[in-house]
Amino acid sequence: MPVSEILQAVLAGAGGDELAGLPMPESYRAAFVVRGEAGMFEGVDSADKDPRKSLHVDEVALPELAPDEAYVAVMASSINFNTVWTSIFEPLPTFGFLDRLGREGRWGARHALDHHVVGSDASGVVLRVGSAVRNWRPGDKVTVHCNYVDDQDPSAHDDSMLAANQRIWGFESNFGGLADIAVVRANQLMPKPAHLSWEEAAVNALCNSTAYRMLVSPNGAAMAQGDRVLVWGASGGIGSYAVQYVLNGGGIPVAVVSSPEKVDLLHDLGVEAVIDRRAAGYRFWRDEHTQDESEWRRLGKDIRSLVGDDPDIVFEHPGRQTMGASVFVCKRAGTVVTCAATSGYMIEYDNRHLWMKLKTIKGSHFANYREAWDANQLICEGKILPPLSAVYPLRDVGEATYQVHRNLHEGKIGVLCLAPEEGLGIDDHDLRAKVGEDRIALFRRHGA
Ligand code: NAP
Repeated sequence: MPVSEILQAVLAGAGGDELAGLPMPESYRAAFVVRGEAGMFEGVDSADKDPRKSLHVDEVALPELAPDEAYVAVMASSINFNTVWTSIFEPLPTFGFLDRLGREGRWGARHALDHHVVGSDASGVVLRVGSAVRNWRPGDKVTVHCNYVDDQDPSAHDDSMLAANQRIWGFESNFGGLADIAVVRANQLMPKPAHLSWEEAAVNALCNSTAYRMLVSPNGAAMAQGDRVLVWGASGGIGSYAVQYVLNGGGIPVAVVSSPEKVDLLHDLGVEAVIDRRAAGYRFWRDEHTQDESEWRRLGKDIRSLVGDDPDIVFEHPGRQTMGASVFVCKRAGTVVTCAATSGYMIEYDNRHLWMKLKTIKGSHFANYREAWDANQLICEGKILPPLSAVYPLRDVGEATYQVHRNLHEGKIGVLCLAPEEGLGIDDHDLRAKVGEDRIALFRRHGA
């Protein structure tokens, strides 16, 4: 049975029984990197490593389904920065993750292959569930979050992000979402927002859940009403959710971006205080080894002039380039919450500013199922908007990843997998009208 017949059934609105009766194909189309090519960029500068060269789109074998898993017909997916890392083989080739998972028994062994199917987001339809799956059935319309944990491991309980074997699906595991079929654990599934198209629904889970944990959850900075929050990269993947959480939660966002177009976008989203870091010309690093405190101070002054005080929370992810400034400008007893280090992970900051003013640096990583579910619910209710700015077909996944690698995009880039065109999959037109077509399409209009 070719995948196209499954697609026809999905598009015709086939019920669960009909979908469950369709045989699964032996192979499916997927985006992947190849183990033998992991050294292809040796000696090339990071910025010049080109995902268009390393990402392939072709047929791969469909793995057997474990009892706690589901096959999902992927209608759309999205580009996350982790696919940039996988495709440029930095900081390490991801095949090491697959080999480690491969040593975890029969089902783990399936993952240790010479190709790595990437992608950590998906929206689609459940095709099959394993014998141990209780809450989901064929025909369910779903989105997929990427927290990949073994729920029989005691350390995975309480907060599953603390699990000893916690992984990110499609980055530290195989069979990810940039494909026509995804293999996921049942505890990754969440309901698809009914008022969104497949591609609008596909872009949220990873970045939305990450921003939710960093800002809203007690596991993160637990933002309070009135908190001033400095958000780096505020029109990017995680930043565009972060500013929405700050606005929704009664906080005061100070958004940092790098172009006048992005400033306009943030104003349209409702953020008043926006800094164009390029126009401001901050030079936090005088040279490769030396930071410039007067530049940190200048940023601090700019923030105070916009919102009257220092930020209670700094939403950090650029890493080496900005961390010194983030620690400096954060308010006395405030929190710098960080989930990444795009510009370099060997961080330097002046510790005197941290301890003397009793600040906290809080590490955060993705989100547990509960946090991802709660964040997804806010999307389902139209309270958080999908920042979809551009859409590519799966065959152009290399170009889409290149756009994110080179910071040429805004918000999120969606990828059509099985969905033949944009705009399909909307079930709740009333809610869509209530939320507002203009608001849902805000990033798309700016990206056009
Ligand atoms: P993104 O869409 O590329 O957005 C990042 C934004 O950061 C860019 O839009 C850019 O905004 C800003 N930026 C980049 N370099 C900067 C620099 N040197 N100084 C200041 N700002 C800079 O990426 P994303 O999806 O938001 O992800 C951001 C980072 O978080 C990535 O490293 C990603 O791997 C990581 N991440 C981690 C988790 C986790 O669970 N740990 C989850 C999601 C993402 P402007 O140019 O407009 O300022």
